[in-house]
This record gives sequence, C-alpha cells and structure tokens, in this order.
Amino acid sequence: MPKILVTGATGQIGAELTLALRERYGADSVIAAGHRREPSDHLMHGPYVSLDVRDAAALDVVVAGRCITIIYHLAALLSAVAEEQPLQAWDINMNGLLNVLESARQHGCQVFFPSSIAAFGPGTPPYNTPQDTVQHPSTIYGITKVSGELLCDYYHRRYSVDARGLRYPGLISNQVLPGGGTTDYAVDIFYAAVKQRHYDCFLRADTQLDMMYMPDAIAAAMQLMQTDPGKLTHRNGFNVTAMSFTPAQLAAEIQKHLPGFTIGYTVDPLRQAIADSWPRHMDDSAARAEWGWQPGFDLPGMVADMLAHISAKFRNG
Ligand code: NAD
Repeated sequence: MPKILVTGATGQIGAELTLALRERYGADSVIAAGHRREPSDHLMHGPYVSLDVRDAAALDVVVAGRCITIIYHLAALLSAVAEEQPLQAWDINMNGLLNVLESARQHGCQVFFPSSIAAFGPGTPPYNTPQDTVQHPSTIYGITKVSGELLCDYYHRRYSVDARGLRYPGLISNQVLPGGGTTDYAVDIFYAAVKQRHYDCFLRADTQLDMMYMPDAIAAAMQLMQTDPGKLTHRNGFNVTAMSFTPAQLAAEIQKHLPGFTIGYTVDPLRQAIADSWPRHMDDSAARAEWGWQPGFDLPGMVADMLAHISAKFRNG
C-alpha cells in the first residue's frame, strides 16, 4: 500500500484530491499537509501536518518519518497572486518543488507536479497548442511552471526520480474556492448566479480559455500516476483539457438553467493581460494516446452539476 503526502492539501485541488486518495487507499495512508489556511473538518478525518514546503528539513522529517512513497506536490502561489508577489512566488513555487524533488530522490518517492496552461506564452500557437512547442511565458507564475516541468524532467533523467505531471487548464469546483488564479471567474460566476442572478466578470466577454471540472482533474492526476511508466514518452507537462469557452459562452449556458441571470464586464487589466498570454485551446492527444486521458464532463454537463451543487449548498445554509 502506498504512503502518500499531499502538499497544499487545503487548496482548491488538494482538498478534493486528498479525499479521493483516502477513498482509494484508506484514510491513514494519505497525509494532508497544509500551510496557514485553516483545514476543513473533512481533511482532519485522517493524518494532517502543518508544513511550509520551503522548509527542506521539516519536509524531510515528514517524508522519512512517515515512510512516504508518493508526493502530490500542490503547494504554490497561483497566477494573479504570484504577479502581485513575484519574489515570494519564485521562493514557494521553485524552492518548494526543489525540496520535494530532493526528498523524493533521497527516499525513492514518486512525485506529481501540476503545471498549467500558464507554462505557455504569447509566442505559443494559441489554437491546438501542441504538446511540444514554444514555452516563453510572460508571467512569473508561468516561468515557475515551465521551470518546474524542466526540473522534474531533469530529476527523472539524472536521478531516476519518477516525477510526472499535467498542464492543467482553469479548474472549476464546488468545494473549496479558488486561490487567486486568472480563471477564478469560472467558479465565482456560479455563486453569483445562484445568489444574486448577476455576475460582474473581470475578464472580457470573448476571452476563450481551456477549462476542466474538478472530478476530471482529480481522475487525471491519479490515472497518470498509476500508468505503467513504459507507456510514457512524455512524463511532465502533459496537455490536458476538457472544454474551452469564453465568459459569454459560460453565461449563456447558465442562462439555460437560470433565465434571469445577467452578466456584466469590469475588466481587471492584470488578469486580462495574463489570460491574453495563454493558449485558447490545447491539443491533448499525447495524454490520450500515452495514458488514456478522457474527460467525463463537457460544458453543459459541468454547468448542470455545478448549479445543482451550489444551489444545494445555499438551500442547506
Ligand atoms: P490553491 O491556491 O487553492 O492552493 C494552494 C495551496 O498551497 C494552499 O492550500 C496554500 O495554503 C498552499 N501553500 C502556499 N504556500 C505554501 C507554502 N509555503 N508551504 C506549503 N503550502 C503552501 O491552489 P490550487 O488551485 O489547489 O492549485 C494547486 C496546484 O495546481 C498549484 O501548483 C497550481 O499552480 C496548480 N494549478 C491549478 C490550477 C487551477 O485552476 N486551480 C490550474 C493549473 C495548475
């Protein structure tokens, strides 16, 4: 039975991934590591540690002391927050990853590292963005993501660390609120639609970006990590997407369920500039061919499920 450490476990992905891993491997096999944010009650239904990933010695104590075999390394600062605190973003995103890879090297762990569409940049082909293409991001977040992909590849080539990863698009979930990314609008809009029947969007109406519903994001991570390594030509930074839409298209889909819903636009120049530097739609055929990636939710399916969950949340207080 694997022993798993999830860093960033209190975050948007970490909270749901920890639960899914505990369901599969048993609660005691999955250690949730949080930092600063208050853990939810359900995270405490299993082992929990407080850990700053920049503290290499503290990380090593957990990895060695708990006999960890797999590290899902989710701790990071996201795009919009990173742009406001670039030095801290570099410190957390890069030194945190380096510490995780070093610990993995010393203790023989497998590592999952989530990259992002932010690892591309304005010079990347925006439509059908290939798996292997130009990666010159213009944001500090993107720079840490492309560097992270390269570092993971290096640790695999040089030290045989089994590091694997995905380039996630914007992620939409109904459990934990997103932590300061450029695609957060695609979650916020549902809360506003259910509560106020109106949403003021910080991206332009025609900003097309790749997106994915959280159940698919969790399934993708777990599926990639279980794939026979002999089947992988790539290892890190697999393009994965499930849908690609604009704020206007998302609003139109929500209006099919809530006809009175309206959307307005007050563009935030920082987040708009970040979004404009990202691809519109990635080609994820390498993930489909190498490890069988197949999303379960498209735009209509995701919207129906999000509205059902968020309406229930408000009904039940
Ligand atoms: P989030 O902001 O919700 O969570 C990040 C977590 O990292 C938080 O729980 C925070 O407490 C923790 N953290 C911050 N600094 C830390 C430190 N010094 N030590 C330990 N923990 C620290 O982010 P998320 O959406 O859950 O993203 C998780 C990972 O997935 C990140 O690497 C992110 O870049 C990547 N990703 C997310 C998306 C998305 O849309 N959510 C898309 C692409 C990639």
